[in-house]
Amino acid sequence: MPEVTKDQVLDALRAVKDPDLGRDIVACDFVKEVKICEGTVGVTIELTTPACPVKEQLKSQADQAIRGIAGVSHVDVTMTAQTVGRNVGAQDILKGVKNCVAVGSGKGGVGKSTATVNLALALAQSGAKVGILDADIYGPSVPGMLGITDRPMADDDGRAIPPMAFGIKAMSVGMLVGEDAPTIWRGPIASRLLQQFLGAVNWGELDYLLLDLPPGTGDIQLTLTQSAPLNGAVIVTTPQQVAMRIAKKGLKMFQQVNIPILGLLENMAGSVFGTNTTEKVAREMGVPFLGSIPLDPKMVESGDLGVPLVALDKDAPGSKAFFEAAAKLASQLSISNLQEKSVQDRPKQVLLAEQRPPKIVWDDGSVMIYDARKLRLACPCAGCRDEMTNERIVNEQQIPMNIAIAEARPVGRYGLSIAFNDGHGSGIYTFNYLRELGQKL
Ligand code: ADP
Repeated sequence: MPEVTKDQVLDALRAVKDPDLGRDIVACDFVKEVKICEGTVGVTIELTTPACPVKEQLKSQADQAIRGIAGVSHVDVTMTAQTVGRNVGAQDILKGVKNCVAVGSGKGGVGKSTATVNLALALAQSGAKVGILDADIYGPSVPGMLGITDRPMADDDGRAIPPMAFGIKAMSVGMLVGEDAPTIWRGPIASRLLQQFLGAVNWGELDYLLLDLPPGTGDIQLTLTQSAPLNGAVIVTTPQQVAMRIAKKGLKMFQQVNIPILGLLENMAGSVFGTNTTEKVAREMGVPFLGSIPLDPKMVESGDLGVPLVALDKDAPGSKAFFEAAAKLASQLSISNLQEKSVQDRPKQVLLAEQRPPKIVWDDGSVMIYDARKLRLACPCAGCRDEMTNERIVNEQQIPMNIAIAEARPVGRYGLSIAFNDGHGSGIYTFNYLRELGQKL
C-alpha cells in the first residue's frame, strides 16, 4: 500500500467548494487538522458559523474526496465552527460580542419581534451563543415572547446580567428604563441612552446579538442603527404592496449609513397577502432573500404562551422556515465579514455614474478613472464568469462600445453593485477588485 500524505489529502479537499464563498475549503483556510495513521485519515474542518447551511454537504463531499485517494481505508471528518465577527477595538462597548445584527421593519405588526426571537433560537440550536437586545421602545415584546418575568441581576461591576430563556440571553430596554421609555428616547439622547444601555449589559461571549429595533424608518431608528456597532441588518416585511414599499424605505435607510443588508425576510406569507413578492423586491434591490415564513395561527399561540414556535414545535412549517432563514442569515453574515476583513482601501467618493470618465476617489487620497466597457467586460457575476475556471464567458462583441454606467450602489462595506445601461447589473465589484481595474490619475 502506498503511504498517504498530507499533501494528497489537501489536494483532494481542494475539490470541495464552499458555494457561498465561491472558493474551495483549503483556500478558505477551513481545514485545520489532518491526521494520518496508515489507511485512516482524520480531518477537522472549521466553518465560519455553526449555523452553516451547507455543513452536511461539505462534510460528505470532504469524506468522499478523501476516500478517493489510493490507500485510504477509513475517513473521519470532524466539523467545527469559529464564528467570524467584527474587528473589536479596546474601547468597544460590545467587546465579547462577535456579531451585532439589527432586525428592522418599515412598520409595526409585521412580525419583527416574532422573527427576532425565532431566528435567535434557531441560531442557538445550531450551537451558537446568542443574545437579544429588545430596543423596540414602543412595544418591548421580546421578554413576553420568551416567557421572561425575571428582572436582570447585577454583576460585581454593577452591569446587568441578562436573564436566560431557551438557551439565549435577552435584555429589553423596558427592563432598565421602565415605562417612560418612549418619551425619553427621542432625538440625540436616544443615541446616548442606547450607548449607555449597551455598555451597561454584561453579555459575556456571544456569537450573535440580535437587536430588535422599533418599527419605522425615522430619526430614532436611524440614530439607533448608528449608535450600535452593527455588522448588518435584516428587514422583515409582509408581502403586501404597502408593506413592501415601506420595507424599501428601510433598506435605503440602512444603505445610507453603510450598514450591510443581510437580507429581506418575508413573514405571514399565505393566501391572503400572496407570496414571493418579497423575493422579487430583494432581487430588484440587489439584496439577499432570507426566505418566507408562512402565516400560522400557532405563531400567535406560541407568542401568548411565551414559548417561541421554534421551541414549541420544531417541525412546524413556520419553524422549518425560520431554521432555513437563520442559516442563510449566518452565511450572509460570514460572507460580509470575510469580505470586509479583506478590504485594503475604501472609496471616499464614488462618481461612476455621475462623471465621464467614471471616477472613484479613494480613502488614501488617490483618484482612479475607469473605462465603462472594461468594467462591464470584467463583470464578476455568475452569468459573466465560468464558475469553475473563473474565465470570462461574456461575448465581447455583444457589449456596445459606448456602454455607460447607470448606477453604482454599495454592497455591505466591501464593494459596489454596478448596473450598466445595457440592462446588466448583477455584478458585485469588491473594493479590492475595483482598485485593480482602475487607472490612477
Ligand atoms: P412586530 O414586532 O413587527 O410589531 P410581532 O412580532 O409583535 O410584530 O407580531 C405581531 C402579531 O402577529 C403577534 O401577535 C404575532 O404572534 C403575530 N404573528 C407574527 N408572525 C406571524 C405568522 N407568521 N403567522 C401568524 N401570526 C404571526
